[in-house]
Amino acid sequence: MAATHLEGRVALITGSTSGIGLAIARRLARQGATVCLHGLGDAKQVESAICAVASEAGVRPRHFGGDLGSAAVATTLIEEVEKSVGSVDVLVNNAGIQHVSPVADFPLERWNAVLAINLTAPFLTIQRVLPGMLQRNWGRIINISSASGYRGVPHKAAYAASKHGLLGLTKVVSSETAQTGVTCNAVCPGWVMTPLVERQIEARAAKDGVDFERAAFEMVSASHPSGQFVKPEQIAGLVAYLCSEDADEVRGVGWNVDGGRLAR
Ligand code: NAD
Repeated sequence: MAATHLEGRVALITGSTSGIGLAIARRLARQGATVCLHGLGDAKQVESAICAVASEAGVRPRHFGGDLGSAAVATTLIEEVEKSVGSVDVLVNNAGIQHVSPVADFPLERWNAVLAINLTAPFLTIQRVLPGMLQRNWGRIINISSASGYRGVPHKAAYAASKHGLLGLTKVVSSETAQTGVTCNAVCPGWVMTPLVERQIEARAAKDGVDFERAAFEMVSASHPSGQFVKPEQIAGLVAYLCSEDADEVRGVGWNVDGGRLAR
């Protein structure tokens, strides 16, 4: 895989103002892609993400805002990127949220928000980029699912439903594009230490009356045979591979990066 194998390609990574998305943006910029950042956050956080990508690429990436909980925003995001930067060659659907509650108490409003951001937004962004990718006969669509795309983890009804759904969507898009230069795959991380998981560790630490490190250790060792968190950069490395020529015939997979969790 050449260090600059994405030169001349435009890559949009949703939810790239922090965590896994930012690591992917940095890696794709290092591989030569023109990166478009997207995500929420205050001016300081957005500027910090822009600077992080600029330090890899030597140019400041454009940042696009917009709440993907709205179908209209998910649709217009692609139009905005294509108008101001260019046709999207690499789409990484990474933005995602979580809500933790037993099914019996799960608020409908949270269910709808998780499904809208984690599943409907990827459907809409794919729908918008696919015609152009097919016309150019090259494209990479990578959906960030989860180990919860395979497992029914207690108290994560909406999240598990959305991530299972995202794997289904990935397989359908892959089937529809199988004889073209467009591929669609999913990555299924286990626990990755990011703000999304830090919030869950903090909640667990408060509930169990232990400190953050203890709660983190107990959380990861309960589910990862490796006993280690996955690093955002490790997810980014896999995404870079899936964008490479070597992965031309990798189609419709849901690739676990989970310290051996799903092997048990
Ligand atoms: P994070 O909270 O650090 O980042 C989430 C990103 O999504 C941020 O850029 C945020 O601005 C954006 N976002 C959130 N709500 C949004 C909205 N309504 N509209 C637009 N953007 C929004 O989380 P992360 O851990 O980096 O998660 C990234 C992806 O990886 C998610 O899809 C998540 O489900 C998945 N994932 C994470 C883990 C983990 O352990 N961290 C494990 C499996 C899967």
